[in-house]
Amino acid sequence: MKQIVILRIGHRKERDKRITTHVGLAARALGASGMILAAEDPEVEERIMDVVSRFGGDFWVRSGCRWQDVVRSWDGAVVHLTMYGESILDVEKEIRSDPRDLLVVIGAEKVPSELYRMADWNVAITNQPHSELAALAVFLDRIQQGRELMRTFDGKIRIIPTKMGKRVVIDE
Ligand code: SAM
Repeated sequence: MKQIVILRIGHRKERDKRITTHVGLAARALGASGMILAAEDPEVEERIMDVVSRFGGDFWVRSGCRWQDVVRSWDGAVVHLTMYGESILDVEKEIRSDPRDLLVVIGAEKVPSELYRMADWNVAITNQPHSELAALAVFLDRIQQGRELMRTFDGKIRIIPTKMGKRVVIDE
């Protein structure tokens, strides 16, 4: 199975802490292997790794990287999620059948135009403006065709699905 890694660019420490943390948590829950943050923000890294330590899996976070260096040195395919791109409906099959590991780049505010040229695919999850979190979740689900929803994490904390209420098992 190919690896999917998220590259988060444009993170602003004061404004984006919460959404970047949620991007990392969604990426982990929905089948990505790790997240590279093109900024320095130890707090985001700590919050995500705290969830990993309690809920399991081997998701990783690396921060403080220059996005250009990450994209150039990536040994695989690069998808940039943008409302200006080609519809996911038109390219999902091609992306799925590419055997290479996948780097999925998501932005914050304005994305440098250079990135559009560096990506193998500029992919739109509708051509309407919304959010990196929503775009990433839909993209991961379509690329993995729902398989990510069956994944288990083998963590210290496990949730037992219930129709009502909460059932939590905590291993000591
Ligand atoms: N106008 C901005 C730009 O330069 O693309 C949009 C910024 S948006 C608030 C932040 C990020 O969300 C974008 O960089 C992109 O990764 C993602 N995003 C927002 N809408 C999207 C869409 N319809 N399809 C794919 N990605 C989207």
